[in-house]
Amino acid sequence: VRVLGIEGTAWCASAAVYDGARDDFRIHSEAYEPESGGIHPREAAEHMQEAVPSVVAAALADARDRHDGDGPAVDAVAFSRGPGLGPCLRIVGTAARALAQALDVPLVGANHMVAHLEIGRHRSGFDSPVCLNASGANAHLLGYRDGRYRVLGETMDTGVGNAIDKFTRHVGWSHPGGPKVEAHAKDGEYVDLPYVVKGMDFSFSGIMSAAKQASDDGVPVEDVCRGLEETIFAMLAEVTERALSLTGSDELVLGGGVAQNARLKRMLEEMCDARDADFYAPEPRFLRDNAGMIALLGAKMYAAGDTLAIEDSNVDANFRPDEVPVTWRDAGED
Ligand code: ATP
Repeated sequence: VRVLGIEGTAWCASAAVYDGARDDFRIHSEAYEPESGGIHPREAAEHMQEAVPSVVAAALADARDRHDGDGPAVDAVAFSRGPGLGPCLRIVGTAARALAQALDVPLVGANHMVAHLEIGRHRSGFDSPVCLNASGANAHLLGYRDGRYRVLGETMDTGVGNAIDKFTRHVGWSHPGGPKVEAHAKDGEYVDLPYVVKGMDFSFSGIMSAAKQASDDGVPVEDVCRGLEETIFAMLAEVTERALSLTGSDELVLGGGVAQNARLKRMLEEMCDARDADFYAPEPRFLRDNAGMIALLGAKMYAAGDTLAIEDSNVDANFRPDEVPVTWRDAGED
């Protein structure tokens, strides 16, 4: 199976071809970088509109290169249907519909958060892992049960990356803030910040206000960064451990842009070691938003016959992972 995937939930316009026979990914991405402040939905949509044609053209050229024989160069077109910014999703949805119709191949609608999980599952070779998705706009734990990826725990307010980015905007750093917090935390002394875990859920709003306040009060920014990393990631590690314990799974995969952070990976690795669980973090190109994961999930869904009629292919800015019937695992994809 060869599937062209298009990703465009927020900042990254990306198109990729996944070639199942070779297990090969060709990914083309163009990032939106805000001049000031955070991601602005209208600017992000303008970027999407400008960048989607070129990334799709590059992916199509790749697909044609690999194609020998008759018929279309890809078996299906998959796109990120949500969750994400509505104006961006609509552009990607329109592009995917047009492309599927022009190539006369089926259309597949992928849930972006399920795609984060599936790329980790695919690359690790794990059977039924718990997945911690630590991304910009989201933070949740997923585990498979009875044909769905259940949300075992999640943020009660903002996504983890967005929370970090709010703090870095406050101290005047450009977007994205996560890598800058990681760099500064290395020279910092730990400071105490509010730790909020309720059962399997967690909250970032209190810690963000406290971090901004500490910085305004003159606490060195390196120290606040260190406190932020230690506190936020300890919260995530605690709920992740609880999810492993609840499900009985001994496999953990990471997803999302924040999962590029070395300190988070180390904490989770240590937690997994202590309970004899296997841990896998995909390489960075598969952690941040990318169309490779959309093409991969698209290939699994296509193989299971899980395609979309054009008239039913509306996007959904609040598309939750537990709304997706996991058709491809029942179909014996592996
Ligand atoms: P979603 O998948 O929820 O749609 P998103 O579109 O915002 O998320 P991602 O690429 O998953 O995008 O993640 C981007 C986020 O990752 C940003 O908030 C950024 O600050 C954060 N981030 C990137 N690198 C690091 C790092 N090294 N440490 C912490 N956070 C990081």
